[in-house]
Amino acid sequence: MAQQETHGFQTEVKQLLQLMIHSLYSNKEIFLRELVSNAADAADKLRYNALTNDALYEGDGELRVRVSANKEAGTVTIEDNGIGMTRDGVIEHLGTIAKSGTAEFFSNLSGDAAKDSQLIGQFGVGFYSAFIVAKKVAVETRAAGHAAEEGVKWESEGEGEFSVEDITKKGRGTKITLFLRDEEKEFADDWRLKSIITKYSDHISIPVEMWEEGKPESEGPDGEKIEATEGEWKGMNKATALWTRNKSDISDDEYNEFYKHVSHDYTDPLLWAHNRVEGKHEYTSLLYIPSKAPWDLWNRDAKQGLKLFVQRVFIMDDAESFMPSYLRFVKGLIDSNDLPLNVSREILQDNKVTQSMRSGITKRVLSMLEKLAKNDAEKYQKFYAEFGQVLKEGPAEDFANKERIAGLLRFSSTNEDSSAPTTSLEQYIERMKEGQEKIYYIVADSYEAAAHSPHLELLRKKGIEVILMHDRIDEWLVNHLNEFKEKKLHSVTQGDLELGDLEDKEEKEAAEKLAADSEALVKRVKNVLADKVSDVKVTTRLTDTPACVVTGEGEMSSQMIKLMEAAGQ
Ligand code: ADP
Ligand code: MG
Repeated sequence: MAQQETHGFQTEVKQLLQLMIHSLYSNKEIFLRELVSNAADAADKLRYNALTNDALYEGDGELRVRVSANKEAGTVTIEDNGIGMTRDGVIEHLGTIAKSGTAEFFSNLSGDAAKDSQLIGQFGVGFYSAFIVAKKVAVETRAAGHAAEEGVKWESEGEGEFSVEDITKKGRGTKITLFLRDEEKEFADDWRLKSIITKYSDHISIPVEMWEEGKPESEGPDGEKIEATEGEWKGMNKATALWTRNKSDISDDEYNEFYKHVSHDYTDPLLWAHNRVEGKHEYTSLLYIPSKAPWDLWNRDAKQGLKLFVQRVFIMDDAESFMPSYLRFVKGLIDSNDLPLNVSREILQDNKVTQSMRSGITKRVLSMLEKLAKNDAEKYQKFYAEFGQVLKEGPAEDFANKERIAGLLRFSSTNEDSSAPTTSLEQYIERMKEGQEKIYYIVADSYEAAAHSPHLELLRKKGIEVILMHDRIDEWLVNHLNEFKEKKLHSVTQGDLELGDLEDKEEKEAAEKLAADSEALVKRVKNVLADKVSDVKVTTRLTDTPACVVTGEGEMSSQMIKLMEAAGQ
């Protein structure tokens, strides 16, 4: 096997390193959170693999991570006894970024440090954040179940390349040594490290330990002899799985930090719900709504889903079977008491327990959003600006919850003078005119086109509100959402407005007379347009515009035709 080799970082890693060092300087201490978070993940993975192969513990099942500093040398060391990495694993995980769409992500960066640091936050800073404070990083690791001689040492100065070398490492797991930059030496201090751990890593479910010096022999208050104590590794955190604790004992800060650990996000979440469900199936869910849409929300291959635990044992990341696709922005975890420990993705896909949990979790998220919309409209607007578009996929995807999802949607409307989506269907119904039976809407390419459409003229004159839809997905949405609270949705571009009682009698008679009087004109127009239209009618729905094109009942709307054409149909 190769002894020492030098490898170049993948281009994106180089970019990420550059960006991180230049845009995350105001929050340097997060490197420790990331490295401890990785150590905890490595412990989870070892436990999972040991379910089927107990030998992986090598007689040491007390998983923990140890943090220490050497002031003289200017180093900080983070050492775990988790799953470790093989040589190939090291080259792959610490030399590349294995996320789909990574290159595309980097092409979106602007060069403006403040904006970019936000983006990097959403991308996830991870292991490479070590270079925010370190001029050199050494990783010594040995994978569980491999011989001591199969250890690997990875080293890099965080510029273009890294080296890997075979070493002998007796203890299983990963030891990371940070050689601090001269101006970051303050981190080589136990007190400082301890305070960072308490701030960011209290929720970590394995012990995060630091060395505590022993005390020499001393005398008590009454002159009695107190024996010397030996130094020992001491836990700095609670070291219990956060979601198993009582809600009332968990602070907002802990929930926030835990979110960052499970989501690999960098900003605080918008809100969360933590619930223990009993009854037919027993499980705990801790669900978070991020405050920012991830950069790959629209990437079909992006990982999504919840972290799955079974009886507190980590089973897998990104379990996508527990959440419908229109709620794919939800992060968090579930811990089931009913699923078998050896459950696989395939089993999950077609499983009664999964289905029941999925339905429960879906309802939980919907009620979480309903509550937010009701109690904090401003925060809900924030949520909606990030994820409203995704939510609109809901009525087509989730028939059972169609009405509830529709209730969560927000639109622009002729009731407001702005394109901001603030009107709910419920509000629309409350404002409906007496005798009005339908929810009128128009779909157009842009807010401007919708708001100034000649189709609105008559309705505006009559003071009837119209929902203005101008998102790409809206046509798809209204195809699956025909009614809300027993009120039909009706497109104003469709043949007959069916105003019902809102049509007044005199107007109707006048219109009929006008139609009769205009017969000759209509005939001429029909002749001219020949086979370009199916019919020509006199209308009263225009007040300023002389003529407009409408689609017939049951025909594809003009917007849908455009969509189909764009799709090459
Ligand atoms: P993420 O944690 O989001 O996967 P990171 O950049 O933090 O991304 O880590 C990259 C990968 O490196 C991890 O997914 C893991 O495979 C590997 N890794 C990092 N730290 C450790 C560790 N302490 N033990 C084992 N593997 C590790
Ligand atoms: Mg990580």
